[in-house]
Amino acid sequence: MKGRLVESAALVVRLVDSGEADRVVTLLTEKSGLVAVSARGVRKGSKRYGGVLEPMHRLHVTVEHPEREIARLEEARVDAMRLAITGHLEASLCAGYWLRFARALAHPHGDDGALFRVTDGALALLDANPLDYARLEHLVPFAMLGAAGYAIELDACVSCRKPCPPDRPSGVDGRRGGLLCRACGFASTVLSPELRSVLRQAHAGAFAPLDPSGRELAARLAQDVALQHVGRTVR
Ligand SMILES: [Zn+2]
Repeated sequence: MKGRLVESAALVVRLVDSGEADRVVTLLTEKSGLVAVSARGVRKGSKRYGGVLEPMHRLHVTVEHPEREIARLEEARVDAMRLAITGHLEASLCAGYWLRFARALAHPHGDDGALFRVTDGALALLDANPLDYARLEHLVPFAMLGAAGYAIELDACVSCRKPCPPDRPSGVDGRRGGLLCRACGFASTVLSPELRSVLRQAHAGAFAPLDPSGRELAARLAQDVALQHVGRTVR
């Protein structure tokens, strides 16, 4: 008897070989969060999946028993090919980082539709212009954090709630989830008003240009926020 079938858009976020011919594929699906599926015979070129189970592309999958620890992949096809990313080394590395970041934030069988759409949209943007990876790489994780409900507080102190004027520099502590005023403790990182504004936009899915020092700070901050929420950094 057939189990429950779920059809969804999906991204491959992890591939683990299993046995001689099979692979366990973790999907971030739009409808059911993270779903692990076994793809039988995929490494021996099974026609069933036609080589589509690769990261970067948007897939359309049909999964049987998505609630199980390992679901069965009934069908998979590519919805959007992203060959510009796969053909560009830095863009591939950037996309790989986003997919690991998305996997860290998502939940098994969870309500991660918004996170899926942000990640998929960012991959589409990168595919349209792979050279844009430098601007996008460390801002897209803020859009993912926003979509996952982990946006950091950028307008007021997380401890005493005192608002920080938009034109002033401010201390920020990613592990505490946002700005920290001087009266409430020491924050080792100082955000300029400009960078604060760029991060606020990134939370909402708009990616402004960023200089190298801003990129480095954004990268570190995203790691600290991930650590706070999921207990580990994402590399
Ligand atoms: Zn305070």
